Amino acid sequence: MSTSEPSIFSRILAREIPADIVYESESVFAITDIAPQAPVHLLVIPKTGEYRSVGELAKADPALLAEMVAVADQLAAERSDGEYRLVFNTGESAGQTVFHVHAHVLGGQLPEGTLA
Ligand code: ADP
Repeated sequence: MSTSEPSIFSRILAREIPADIVYESESVFAITDIAPQAPVHLLVIPKTGEYRSVGELAKADPALLAEMVAVADQLAAERSDGEYRLVFNTGESAGQTVFHVHAHVLGGQLPEGTLA
């Protein structure tokens, strides 16, 4: 990603685009999704935009992926009842639109029969 334009998430992190930033550490941040698909819908995002997908991230920096999961778990406990779905869309045909890896944290009463 380093040769391409900053992603929308990098622009949010740089405070160039407004968003509801609910968590920030040295390497990870989280925002409220602008188009929520569940009563609680957060995105947990590594600050670095260099990884497009969860697979790339897992191979290159498993500790960073583990931190994302731990942050998702913590936020779901704080903002919902600790029960949630964690979704990584990978590739256009899977619905990925932002190619800066991010985890969807979906909590609260989820619509029946949907995966995301
Ligand atoms: P999809 O759009 O199919 O969910 P992704 O998995 O790439 O694809 O997720 C991108 C997510 O980013 C979407 O859920 C979208 O609502 C969210 N999003 C896009 N722009 C913003 C923004 N400015 N603030 C918060 N969330 C955003």
